[in-house]
Amino acid sequence: MVKLYNTLTRKKEVFKPISEGKVGLYTCGPTVYWYAHVGNFRSYIFADVLKRVLMYNGLEVKHIINVTDVGHLTSDADSGEDKLEASAARERKTASEISHFYFNAFQKDFEKLNLIEPFKWTWATEHIKEQIDMINILEKKGYTYKTSDGIYFDTSKFADYGMLSNKKICGLEAGASQHTPISTGVKRKIYLREKKNKTDFALWKFSGEPGERQQEWKSPWGLGFPGWHIECSAMSSKYLGKQFDIHTGGEDNMPIHHENEIAQSECAFGKKPWVKTWMHGAFLNIKGNKKMSKSAGKIMTISELERGGISPLAYRYFTYSAKYRKPLVWSDEAIKGAVDSYKRLKNIISGIENKGGMNKKYLKEFEERINDDLDMPGAVAVLWKLVRDEKAEGKIGTIKKMDQVFGLELLKEEVVDVPDDVQAIADERQKARDEKDWVKSDKLRDKLRGMGWAIKDRKEGYELGGDGNNIK
Ligand SMILES: [Zn+2]
Repeated sequence: MVKLYNTLTRKKEVFKPISEGKVGLYTCGPTVYWYAHVGNFRSYIFADVLKRVLMYNGLEVKHIINVTDVGHLTSDADSGEDKLEASAARERKTASEISHFYFNAFQKDFEKLNLIEPFKWTWATEHIKEQIDMINILEKKGYTYKTSDGIYFDTSKFADYGMLSNKKICGLEAGASQHTPISTGVKRKIYLREKKNKTDFALWKFSGEPGERQQEWKSPWGLGFPGWHIECSAMSSKYLGKQFDIHTGGEDNMPIHHENEIAQSECAFGKKPWVKTWMHGAFLNIKGNKKMSKSAGKIMTISELERGGISPLAYRYFTYSAKYRKPLVWSDEAIKGAVDSYKRLKNIISGIENKGGMNKKYLKEFEERINDDLDMPGAVAVLWKLVRDEKAEGKIGTIKKMDQVFGLELLKEEVVDVPDDVQAIADERQKARDEKDWVKSDKLRDKLRGMGWAIKDRKEGYELGGDGNNIK
């Protein structure tokens, strides 16, 4: 029995899939115009843990993550530049070169964090037809209107607008004209005055002057490109059906992007609720409670972490220090503490002999934590209790099972660089062992421990692991 917090109902609920044994899961994916930073990845780690917990509970998960390679503007209010087009212009590349380059970088980091690949990465530009079809349905049902800038969704016609963020914003500014200067491409500025309600959003945007954009398609309304929100509705319904189980995203997606997804999908498909459970991951903040973002001036990528000696899995472990709905504060001390703790954990585990079996008591405690709305700090605490419990049986089997959810490769041995002096002592110890001088061999083992190295005897020779000083 898995309990999940549903943003829609503001309650922790027992999760029941629409079709028994199967879960349709959609995650708002990257806009591939630049590198994703560790804060973005906190959100994907959360979605991955969710997926692993569902799988752990015997459910078959069909996971879709979209790749936004068109239509995401620099402002959520349908103004500003298309992020992909702007990046292509800046780097003097085609939009497709940009999207593939940054997607590849994203995917490499995704793998390094041991995130399970989705059933499908759905690219927005590969689903233009589906998006046009959906706008067509909305137009026929009378939910759209045309401005000089594009086809807009009229939010005043959807009574439930704002249900996710619990805001009744629709109609609030009905009739108010918008005078936001917007630039759809290079130099030209047009003014958007014709939005009926502040919350209305673009389903289809017109291209503007010929040659202004690289990415444009023919549509019943003229040459143009889809808005950002429609892609998620069109692609999720194509692969998961017109109603599905869980939709995740970062908390920043919730008040506009997800409200818009709900509005257009419920109006087009007539299903209520379109998605049964909405889940949102909190931000990774830097000190001073600022969200880590490109605009805040401080971002860090997974590769930069690695260059700084922080492994991607140590970062993954760090994210477990807060529940996914709580902000996590990034500081050098906090991340260093997590790196040390993760190393120590792996070292202790590498010294545990596998005697077979499972430890039901700890496994039950662990399951209670993960099934309580993905309580990863709680689950990590259970893991530590298990590894430190000298009398506990079935340790290795239990750790292996828990790692199905942690995804931390807890049983994978590290390749370590051994300094020469340490190597020399280890060789001397091996010689003593070969000569059956156990007293000397034990002394040298202690000496190695004192230097921070653990040694394990193997059938042929020995193995050294770092940070032995932390081995209890
Ligand atoms: Zn989305």
